[in-house]
Order: sequence, then C-alpha cells, then structure tokens
Amino acid sequence: MIGLAPERLRRVRGARIAAVFQDPTTYLNPVLRIETQLVEVLRLHRGLGAAEATKEAVALLRRVRLADPERAARSYPFQLSGGMRQRALIAMALACRPRLLVADEPTTALDVTLQAAILDLLRELTEEGGAALWLITHDLGVIAPTCHRVAVMYAGRIVETGPAETITRSPAHPYTRGLLAAAKHLEEGRVRATIPGQVHSPTNHPPGCRFHLRCPEALPSCATHEPPETALSPGHAVRCWLYATFENDHR
Ligand code: SF4
Repeated sequence: MIGLAPERLRRVRGARIAAVFQDPTTYLNPVLRIETQLVEVLRLHRGLGAAEATKEAVALLRRVRLADPERAARSYPFQLSGGMRQRALIAMALACRPRLLVADEPTTALDVTLQAAILDLLRELTEEGGAALWLITHDLGVIAPTCHRVAVMYAGRIVETGPAETITRSPAHPYTRGLLAAAKHLEEGRVRATIPGQVHSPTNHPPGCRFHLRCPEALPSCATHEPPETALSPGHAVRCWLYATFENDHR
C-alpha cells in the first residue's frame, strides 16, 4: 500500500481496510449526527442513494446491537455513552464490508464491564462478514478468547509469533512472559508485576537484542548480536538467544 497514489489509497482505506480506534470520541465528528456520518461513508464508498444509505445506516446500528438504532442514528456523539459511541464507530468501519478490520486498543477507553462485549462483537461481526480482524493491544488477557494468531512486538521487532493458545500457555520470549505475568497479577487483583527498566528511544536502538537492557535472562551475546528467528514448533517462532543454536547463529 505504501507508494499508492492518494486517490487509490483513499479507495483502499475504508472500503477494503477499515479501522476502529481507542477513543471513539476523537474519530467521530462532534457536530454531525451519527446518521449523517454513516450516510456519508455509504454514499462515498458504496455509491448508495440518499434514501437507501439512510436505511442502511440504521440497519448497521442495529447490527452492532445498539438498543434503539433509530434514536442512535439521530443522536450527536456527545448524546451517546462511551460504549454506544464505540459501537457506532464499529458500524462505520463495517459499512463498506472491509476485508480487514484493524482494531487498535478498541476497549482501552471503555468501562471494564463493556470490554468483553465489544471484543465479542468485533469477533462475531468480522466472522459473519468474512473479514480478518487485526487486534492491536497491550492486554494479553484479551488475546486468547479473541485471536487465532499472535505476534508480540518489542521496540519495533516481532519477537514471538504463534497460535494464541500456544503463546498464552507456553510463552517463550522473556518479554512475552513478562507481559503475561503483568496481566495475571492484574487479574488476580495483586500489585501489577512490572518489567524493570524503560523502553529506549525508538530512534536509538541498542546493539544486539533490543530487549537486552531489561531482560532478566540476558546472555553476553545478547548485547552484541541480534537474535535470529528460531522455530519452536509448527507456527511458533521466537527471536531470542536462549533458543538459537550455537552452530548456526554465532552465539
Ligand atoms: S536474546 Fe537475550 S536479551 Fe534478548 S530476550 Fe533473549 S535472553 Fe533476553
């Protein structure tokens, strides 16, 4: 997609790839009714006439399970609760039947009681529509019930990939283990476990493994050589010197 002309890019965004963001308030126009915003998307990307687009807007709001979709359509964003606004944003994202829905921390701004409902909704709607769901989150606790595959990133590098169940049951990378420990402590109501140290500047990566300054298991080679990817089982791979073999990786 990088390098596409602006006009072609505009046709891909929204129509083939849509996004739901962390704070729906920021992404909804505060001075336009929800219906007006949905109708604009439907007319622009699906070429619907005004009457048809209005009908479809209400149908979409019903699909995202807003209790009174007609009323929600007539509302301005400030007249809806946070959960309702997020549902309206999901309706907008699904309006063009995208092939890929990117959900970037979609529940972070919501009350904890609503988080599971919004994630269930995203999963069900993308499955129904045959779209892929790409969930970006810091909360590994939501991964297992929502995703099939996980890629764990640290400082711009994918450090571990695998099936969600494998990653949550048997995490291999020390950073993944740290994230899961933090999520578990929080779930149990204990003081959150933290990973010591701080993330370095994204413009000044340290040599070797980018996690080595914070890693409790660092080896001497970690500070000088970037670890290669090692396959642990079908579909499960990790970038860490603890798993790379001496012969082929100059440990
Ligand atoms: S490569 Fe070394 S520093 Fe990096 S995560 Fe593995 S053990 Fe830790």
